Amino acid sequence: MALTGLDIFKLLPKTNCGECGVPTCMAFAMKLASKGAELSACPYASEEATKVLGAASKPPIRLVKIGPSEFETQVGNETVMFRHEKTFVHPTAIAVAFSDGQPADKIAHQTAVIRDYCLERVGEQLRIDLALVENTTGEVDPFVKTVKEVAGTTGHGLILQSNNSEAIEAALQVLDGQRPLIHAATPENADTIAALALKYKAPVIAKADMLDSLAALTTKLAGLGVQDIVLEVPGDNPAAILQNNTIIRKAALKSTYEPLGYPVINFLTGRDLPDLVADASTLICKYGSIIVIDTLAMQALLPMMMLRQNIFTDPQKPIQVEPKIYPIGEPDENSPVLVTTNFSLTYFIVSGEIENSGVSAHLVIVETEGMSVLTGWAAGKFSGEKIGAFIKQSGLEDKVKSRKLIIPGYVAQISGELEEALPGWQIIVGPQEASDLAPFMKMHAG
Ligand code: SF4
Repeated sequence: MALTGLDIFKLLPKTNCGECGVPTCMAFAMKLASKGAELSACPYASEEATKVLGAASKPPIRLVKIGPSEFETQVGNETVMFRHEKTFVHPTAIAVAFSDGQPADKIAHQTAVIRDYCLERVGEQLRIDLALVENTTGEVDPFVKTVKEVAGTTGHGLILQSNNSEAIEAALQVLDGQRPLIHAATPENADTIAALALKYKAPVIAKADMLDSLAALTTKLAGLGVQDIVLEVPGDNPAAILQNNTIIRKAALKSTYEPLGYPVINFLTGRDLPDLVADASTLICKYGSIIVIDTLAMQALLPMMMLRQNIFTDPQKPIQVEPKIYPIGEPDENSPVLVTTNFSLTYFIVSGEIENSGVSAHLVIVETEGMSVLTGWAAGKFSGEKIGAFIKQSGLEDKVKSRKLIIPGYVAQISGELEEALPGWQIIVGPQEASDLAPFMKMHAG
């Protein structure tokens, strides 16, 4: 039976030292009960607590880390079926497939594209996460050569795909310490692959034809001491893969069924672009921890990256930009000063409209925990007092002479407060809608 927060609390030290990342033992107990933390985060847990809580506090879907520490990909640790229940945690990792039979110039070109690919969107940098090298030649030397080249150029974590355990071991030696993901342990080779995984401390993909044989395989691997497992989801068409992804997530979360409590990998190779984008979109939304693709076509990567960013944004935590003074254009000491909140969307819309106006300005972005203007004002985070204090601390008053501060039209009511907080400044109420900023800026230029 699952332990409640109170049951767990009784076993904790009750010193409220906060070292686990939350202020009290009770708060930590509640996190453990909801599988949002691991007992290992408390350095003072007694042996008895570790024994009793060990199983109860284990996350229902194991966290698996792949790749070198400087470019590590984490998958798993999910706790909900639906994003609106709380949040999805680790974005679906996108892996691009290579073959050791590909011409060297094609590999060189593709690895450089992966290394350099970076889509910047609402302040985040979106990248490809992993590369898979398939041993299509079946030979050791070309496989190792390709693995070296792909890892060396991209710097990314690798998935090593081969039926030849000698080739896998040779590649593991090359990547020692970089935690490549081994593809794959099967019911036939489980002992050999488990031994390699343990020797090189590498995570392993478990592969079987049916879900029940997959569960039997992970049970065997766990019995051999392999803990970091990723499930290759059986299914020969998108509907079957989607169905099995859902069954696995449900079994792990609702039934705490440990043999399927692992992240999953879905192979989406050999598709034309429209089918690839459709299938990838489905599996990004529905539980794919890693998807493997075999194209670097920008028209396929763009929608995948954007959808992934949207799905894996915490719905309770708005996307934010850093609170500071942003120069828009080439502002000088006579340029106007505008203020708004650090909600990403607000920042990008307002800065875009100022740019469109052609008038350079200083844009003051105040910390409101990502709230928009009206919400921030209602929550007391976008008040005259807070804006005034932020401007004073920022040193802006040493940089500008104009002493004119334009505030969003929706918070005209803070003008008085601001005048008190910023003596000598003239507070100008700007338009309510950002789309009216350009003509407003032109009118107030200079
Ligand atoms: S680290 Fe342990 S003792 Fe300290 S507050 Fe957290 S649960 Fe309590």
